[in-house]
Amino acid sequence: MTRMEREEIQKIVEQAIQDGKNTLYEGKVASYIPELAKANSSNLGVCIETKEGEIYASGDYSIPFTVQSISKTFSLILALQTAGYEKVFSKIGMEPTGDRFDSILQLELKDWKPFNPMINAGAIVTASCIDLPKGFEEFLRLVRRLCGNDQIWLNENVYRSEKKTGTRNRSIAYLLKSDGVLEGEPEEVLDLYFRMCSIMVTAKDLAHYAMILSNRGEDPVIGEQLVDRDIVRIVKTLMLLCGMYDQSGEYAVKVGLPSKSGVGGGIVAVAPGGMGIGTFGPMLNQKGNSVGGEQILRTLSEKLNLHLFA
Ligand code: GLU
Repeated sequence: MTRMEREEIQKIVEQAIQDGKNTLYEGKVASYIPELAKANSSNLGVCIETKEGEIYASGDYSIPFTVQSISKTFSLILALQTAGYEKVFSKIGMEPTGDRFDSILQLELKDWKPFNPMINAGAIVTASCIDLPKGFEEFLRLVRRLCGNDQIWLNENVYRSEKKTGTRNRSIAYLLKSDGVLEGEPEEVLDLYFRMCSIMVTAKDLAHYAMILSNRGEDPVIGEQLVDRDIVRIVKTLMLLCGMYDQSGEYAVKVGLPSKSGVGGGIVAVAPGGMGIGTFGPMLNQKGNSVGGEQILRTLSEKLNLHLFA
Protein backbone atom coordinates (compact mmCIF):
# COMPACT_ATOMS: atom_id res chain seq x y z
CA MET A 1 0.00 0.00 0.00
CA THR A 2 1.40 3.45 -0.87
CA ARG A 3 1.39 6.28 1.64
CA MET A 4 -1.39 7.99 -0.30
CA GLU A 5 -3.54 4.86 -0.13
CA ARG A 6 -2.88 4.48 3.57
CA GLU A 7 -3.87 8.10 4.20
CA GLU A 8 -7.01 7.58 2.17
CA ILE A 9 -8.00 4.53 4.25
CA GLN A 10 -7.35 6.40 7.49
CA LYS A 11 -9.62 9.20 6.26
CA ILE A 12 -12.37 6.68 5.55
CA VAL A 13 -11.94 5.26 9.06
CA GLU A 14 -12.36 8.77 10.54
CA GLN A 15 -15.43 9.30 8.40
CA ALA A 16 -16.84 5.94 9.59
CA ILE A 17 -16.42 7.00 13.23
CA GLN A 18 -18.26 10.25 12.51
CA ASP A 19 -21.10 8.36 10.81
CA GLY A 20 -21.22 5.99 13.78
CA LYS A 21 -21.38 8.88 16.29
CA ASN A 22 -24.41 10.27 14.51
CA THR A 23 -26.36 7.07 15.21
CA LEU A 24 -25.59 6.66 18.92
CA TYR A 25 -28.76 8.43 20.05
CA GLU A 26 -30.74 5.49 18.60
CA GLY A 27 -29.23 2.97 21.03
CA LYS A 28 -29.25 1.92 24.67
CA VAL A 29 -26.60 0.14 26.72
CA ALA A 30 -27.45 -3.42 27.79
CA SER A 31 -28.91 -3.50 31.27
CA TYR A 32 -30.16 -7.06 31.76
CA ILE A 33 -26.79 -7.86 33.32
CA PRO A 34 -26.41 -5.14 36.00
CA GLU A 35 -22.66 -4.80 35.51
CA LEU A 36 -23.10 -4.01 31.78
CA ALA A 37 -25.36 -1.06 32.58
CA LYS A 38 -22.25 0.78 33.78
CA ALA A 39 -20.87 1.09 30.22
CA ASN A 40 -19.98 4.54 28.93
CA SER A 41 -22.62 5.29 26.31
CA SER A 42 -20.43 7.71 24.37
CA ASN A 43 -17.64 5.20 23.69
CA LEU A 44 -17.02 4.39 20.04
CA GLY A 45 -13.96 2.92 18.39
CA VAL A 46 -12.76 1.03 15.36
CA CYS A 47 -9.59 -0.77 14.34
CA ILE A 48 -8.58 -2.39 11.07
CA GLU A 49 -5.59 -4.72 10.83
CA THR A 50 -4.22 -6.18 7.61
CA LYS A 51 -2.05 -9.24 7.15
CA GLU A 52 0.78 -6.95 6.06
CA GLY A 53 0.70 -5.52 9.59
CA GLU A 54 -0.94 -2.20 8.79
CA ILE A 55 -3.22 -0.74 11.45
CA TYR A 56 -5.90 1.88 10.90
CA ALA A 57 -7.75 2.98 13.99
CA SER A 58 -9.83 5.74 15.48
CA GLY A 59 -11.77 6.54 18.66
CA ASP A 60 -11.95 4.15 21.61
CA TYR A 61 -10.30 1.19 19.94
CA SER A 62 -8.11 0.36 22.91
CA ILE A 63 -10.76 0.52 25.66
CA PRO A 64 -11.48 -2.98 27.02
CA PHE A 65 -15.05 -4.30 27.18
CA THR A 66 -16.55 -7.74 27.76
CA VAL A 67 -16.51 -9.99 24.74
CA GLN A 68 -19.98 -11.45 25.54
CA SER A 69 -21.46 -13.32 22.57
CA ILE A 70 -18.35 -12.90 20.45
CA SER A 71 -16.99 -15.63 22.76
CA LYS A 72 -19.29 -18.01 20.86
CA THR A 73 -16.91 -17.92 17.89
CA PHE A 74 -13.86 -18.75 20.03
CA SER A 75 -15.67 -21.50 21.94
CA LEU A 76 -16.82 -23.04 18.66
CA ILE A 77 -13.21 -23.12 17.47
CA LEU A 78 -12.10 -24.77 20.70
CA ALA A 79 -14.95 -27.30 20.65
CA LEU A 80 -14.17 -28.23 17.04
CA GLN A 81 -10.46 -28.51 17.85
CA THR A 82 -11.02 -30.74 20.87
CA ALA A 83 -14.28 -32.66 20.33
CA GLY A 84 -14.35 -32.60 16.51
CA TYR A 85 -16.92 -31.86 13.83
CA GLU A 86 -19.02 -35.03 14.20
CA LYS A 87 -19.59 -34.65 17.91
CA VAL A 88 -20.28 -30.90 17.85
CA PHE A 89 -22.72 -31.00 14.95
CA SER A 90 -24.48 -34.08 16.21
CA LYS A 91 -25.66 -31.85 19.05
CA ILE A 92 -26.03 -28.44 17.38
CA GLY A 93 -27.42 -27.43 13.99
CA MET A 94 -26.20 -24.90 11.41
CA GLU A 95 -29.41 -23.03 10.66
CA PRO A 96 -30.30 -19.39 11.38
CA THR A 97 -33.28 -19.02 13.71
CA GLY A 98 -34.72 -15.55 13.22
CA ASP A 99 -35.40 -15.59 16.97
CA ARG A 100 -33.82 -13.71 19.84
CA PHE A 101 -30.38 -14.90 20.96
CA ASP A 102 -31.73 -16.28 24.24
CA SER A 103 -34.90 -17.82 22.87
CA ILE A 104 -36.19 -21.16 24.09
CA LEU A 105 -38.99 -21.40 21.55
CA GLN A 106 -37.41 -23.56 18.85
CA LEU A 107 -36.10 -26.13 21.32
CA GLU A 108 -39.55 -27.34 22.24
CA LEU A 109 -41.36 -26.59 19.00
CA LYS A 110 -39.16 -27.80 16.20
CA ASP A 111 -36.13 -29.79 17.19
CA TRP A 112 -34.43 -31.07 20.26
CA LYS A 113 -31.09 -29.63 19.31
CA PRO A 114 -30.19 -25.93 19.22
CA PHE A 115 -30.34 -24.40 15.75
CA ASN A 116 -26.78 -23.05 15.66
CA PRO A 117 -23.75 -22.31 17.89
CA MET A 118 -24.22 -18.51 17.74
CA ILE A 119 -27.36 -18.45 19.89
CA ASN A 120 -27.23 -19.05 23.63
CA ALA A 121 -28.70 -22.56 23.54
CA GLY A 122 -26.13 -23.57 20.91
CA ALA A 123 -23.26 -21.89 22.72
CA ILE A 124 -24.14 -23.60 25.99
CA VAL A 125 -24.02 -26.98 24.23
CA THR A 126 -20.78 -25.91 22.51
CA ALA A 127 -19.31 -25.18 25.95
CA SER A 128 -20.33 -28.67 27.09
CA CYS A 129 -18.35 -30.15 24.17
CA ILE A 130 -15.12 -28.54 25.43
CA ASP A 131 -14.13 -31.56 27.40
CA LEU A 132 -10.86 -30.38 28.91
CA PRO A 133 -9.82 -30.46 32.57
CA LYS A 134 -8.99 -26.76 32.41
CA GLY A 135 -11.57 -25.63 29.88
CA PHE A 136 -11.58 -21.94 30.74
CA GLU A 137 -7.76 -21.68 30.90
CA GLU A 138 -7.52 -23.33 27.45
CA PHE A 139 -10.19 -20.97 26.14
CA LEU A 140 -8.32 -17.94 27.45
CA ARG A 141 -5.08 -19.23 25.96
CA LEU A 142 -6.73 -19.59 22.55
CA VAL A 143 -8.30 -16.12 22.71
CA ARG A 144 -4.98 -14.55 23.69
CA ARG A 145 -3.18 -16.22 20.79
CA LEU A 146 -5.83 -15.35 18.23
CA CYS A 147 -6.04 -11.75 19.42
CA GLY A 148 -2.26 -11.41 19.71
CA ASN A 149 -2.62 -10.09 23.26
CA ASP A 150 -1.50 -12.11 26.26
CA GLN A 151 -2.96 -9.54 28.67
CA ILE A 152 -6.60 -10.44 27.97
CA TRP A 153 -8.28 -11.07 31.33
CA LEU A 154 -11.45 -12.25 33.01
CA ASN A 155 -13.64 -9.50 34.46
CA GLU A 156 -14.71 -11.09 37.74
CA ASN A 157 -17.39 -8.47 38.40
CA VAL A 158 -19.15 -9.09 35.10
CA TYR A 159 -18.76 -12.85 35.52
CA ARG A 160 -20.34 -12.76 38.99
CA SER A 161 -23.09 -10.38 37.86
CA GLU A 162 -23.85 -12.61 34.91
CA LYS A 163 -23.81 -15.79 36.98
CA LYS A 164 -26.11 -14.29 39.56
CA THR A 165 -28.69 -12.96 37.13
CA GLY A 166 -28.45 -15.53 34.31
CA THR A 167 -31.78 -17.20 35.00
CA ARG A 168 -32.75 -17.45 31.35
CA ASN A 169 -29.50 -19.19 30.44
CA ARG A 170 -30.08 -21.49 33.40
CA SER A 171 -33.53 -22.34 32.03
CA ILE A 172 -32.02 -23.13 28.64
CA ALA A 173 -29.32 -25.37 30.14
CA TYR A 174 -31.77 -27.35 32.30
CA LEU A 175 -34.20 -27.76 29.42
CA LEU A 176 -31.39 -29.07 27.23
CA LYS A 177 -30.32 -31.38 30.03
CA SER A 178 -33.83 -32.76 30.44
CA ASP A 179 -33.96 -33.49 26.71
CA GLY A 180 -30.63 -35.32 26.89
CA VAL A 181 -28.83 -32.84 24.58
CA LEU A 182 -26.59 -31.34 27.23
CA GLU A 183 -24.02 -33.68 28.68
CA GLY A 184 -22.47 -32.91 32.03
CA GLU A 185 -23.62 -30.85 34.95
CA PRO A 186 -25.64 -27.77 33.83
CA GLU A 187 -24.16 -25.53 36.56
CA GLU A 188 -20.61 -26.44 35.54
CA VAL A 189 -21.29 -25.86 31.85
CA LEU A 190 -22.99 -22.54 32.65
CA ASP A 191 -20.07 -21.48 34.80
CA LEU A 192 -17.73 -22.00 31.83
CA TYR A 193 -20.17 -20.18 29.50
CA PHE A 194 -20.46 -17.17 31.86
CA ARG A 195 -16.69 -16.95 32.26
CA MET A 196 -16.16 -17.10 28.51
CA CYS A 197 -18.61 -14.21 28.04
CA SER A 198 -16.82 -12.12 30.66
CA ILE A 199 -13.31 -11.71 29.29
CA MET A 200 -12.11 -8.24 28.40
CA VAL A 201 -11.01 -7.44 24.85
CA THR A 202 -10.53 -4.31 22.75
CA ALA A 203 -11.52 -3.46 19.18
CA LYS A 204 -7.82 -3.79 18.36
CA ASP A 205 -7.77 -7.37 19.73
CA LEU A 206 -10.83 -8.23 17.63
CA ALA A 207 -9.26 -6.73 14.50
CA HIS A 208 -6.25 -9.01 14.95
CA TYR A 209 -8.47 -12.05 15.45
CA ALA A 210 -10.54 -11.21 12.36
CA MET A 211 -7.35 -10.71 10.35
CA ILE A 212 -6.26 -14.26 11.30
CA LEU A 213 -9.69 -15.63 10.28
CA SER A 214 -9.45 -13.72 7.01
CA ASN A 215 -5.98 -15.18 6.50
CA ARG A 216 -7.51 -18.71 6.76
CA GLY A 217 -6.29 -19.29 10.28
CA GLU A 218 -2.63 -18.52 9.71
CA ASP A 219 -0.76 -15.97 11.78
CA PRO A 220 1.15 -14.03 9.10
CA VAL A 221 3.82 -12.80 11.50
CA ILE A 222 5.00 -16.16 12.83
CA GLY A 223 3.73 -18.14 9.81
CA GLU A 224 1.95 -20.59 12.10
CA GLN A 225 -1.44 -22.17 11.34
CA LEU A 226 -3.35 -21.33 14.55
CA VAL A 227 -6.71 -22.71 13.40
CA ASP A 228 -7.34 -25.35 10.71
CA ARG A 229 -8.71 -23.99 7.45
CA ASP A 230 -11.79 -26.21 7.72
CA ILE A 231 -12.65 -24.83 11.13
CA VAL A 232 -12.16 -21.26 9.91
CA ARG A 233 -14.53 -21.96 7.01
CA ILE A 234 -17.21 -23.31 9.37
CA VAL A 235 -16.90 -20.43 11.84
CA LYS A 236 -16.94 -17.70 9.17
CA THR A 237 -19.95 -19.25 7.42
CA LEU A 238 -21.92 -19.43 10.66
CA MET A 239 -20.92 -15.85 11.48
CA LEU A 240 -22.30 -14.70 8.14
CA LEU A 241 -25.55 -16.63 8.60
CA CYS A 242 -26.19 -16.23 12.32
CA GLY A 243 -23.64 -13.85 13.84
CA MET A 244 -25.79 -10.73 14.27
CA TYR A 245 -28.69 -12.21 16.24
CA ASP A 246 -32.06 -11.93 14.51
CA GLN A 247 -30.72 -9.12 12.34
CA SER A 248 -28.21 -11.36 10.54
CA GLY A 249 -30.00 -11.27 7.19
CA GLU A 250 -30.41 -7.50 7.05
CA TYR A 251 -26.83 -7.00 8.21
CA ALA A 252 -25.55 -9.43 5.55
CA VAL A 253 -27.36 -7.45 2.87
CA LYS A 254 -26.06 -4.10 4.13
CA VAL A 255 -22.52 -4.97 5.27
CA GLY A 256 -21.87 -8.37 3.72
CA LEU A 257 -19.06 -9.59 6.00
CA PRO A 258 -18.95 -12.59 8.38
CA SER A 259 -19.38 -10.84 11.73
CA LYS A 260 -20.29 -11.53 15.33
CA SER A 261 -21.58 -9.05 17.85
CA GLY A 262 -21.90 -9.10 21.62
CA VAL A 263 -24.02 -7.14 24.06
CA GLY A 264 -20.84 -5.65 25.53
CA GLY A 265 -20.83 -3.49 22.36
CA GLY A 266 -18.23 -5.28 20.26
CA ILE A 267 -18.43 -6.46 16.67
CA VAL A 268 -15.76 -8.56 14.99
CA ALA A 269 -15.92 -8.52 11.17
CA VAL A 270 -13.85 -10.55 8.72
CA ALA A 271 -13.09 -8.63 5.53
CA PRO A 272 -11.62 -10.30 2.42
CA GLY A 273 -7.91 -10.47 1.58
CA GLY A 274 -6.43 -10.73 5.07
CA MET A 275 -8.21 -7.76 6.60
CA GLY A 276 -9.82 -7.84 10.04
CA ILE A 277 -12.05 -5.22 11.65
CA GLY A 278 -13.05 -4.73 15.28
CA THR A 279 -15.51 -2.13 16.53
CA PHE A 280 -16.69 -1.09 19.97
CA GLY A 281 -19.70 0.99 20.95
CA PRO A 282 -21.96 -0.11 23.83
CA MET A 283 -25.12 1.64 22.57
CA LEU A 284 -27.20 -1.25 21.23
CA ASN A 285 -30.24 -1.49 18.99
CA GLN A 286 -33.26 -3.58 19.91
CA LYS A 287 -31.71 -6.73 18.49
CA GLY A 288 -28.63 -6.33 20.71
CA ASN A 289 -26.21 -5.09 18.04
CA SER A 290 -24.01 -2.01 18.50
CA VAL A 291 -25.65 0.83 16.56
CA GLY A 292 -22.39 2.77 16.16
CA GLY A 293 -20.43 -0.36 15.27
CA GLU A 294 -22.93 -1.39 12.66
CA GLN A 295 -22.87 2.05 11.06
CA ILE A 296 -19.07 2.06 11.05
CA LEU A 297 -19.08 -1.30 9.28
CA ARG A 298 -21.63 -0.11 6.75
CA THR A 299 -19.46 2.90 5.90
CA LEU A 300 -16.29 0.80 5.70
CA SER A 301 -17.95 -1.89 3.61
CA GLU A 302 -19.24 0.67 1.15
CA LYS A 303 -16.21 2.98 0.95
CA LEU A 304 -13.58 0.22 0.91
CA ASN A 305 -15.71 -2.02 -1.29
CA LEU A 306 -15.63 -4.96 1.12
CA HIS A 307 -19.08 -6.52 0.68
CA LEU A 308 -18.57 -10.21 -0.19
CA PHE A 309 -21.21 -10.18 -2.90
CA ALA A 310 -20.72 -6.70 -4.34
N1 GLU B 1 -23.65 -13.28 28.36
C1 GLU B 1 -24.68 -13.00 27.53
C2 GLU B 1 -25.87 -13.89 27.77
O1 GLU B 1 -25.82 -15.05 27.57
C3 GLU B 1 -24.25 -13.01 26.11
C4 GLU B 1 -25.21 -12.20 25.41
C5 GLU B 1 -24.74 -11.64 24.12
O2 GLU B 1 -23.73 -10.99 23.98
O3 GLU B 1 -25.52 -11.87 23.19
O4 GLU B 1 -26.88 -13.44 28.16
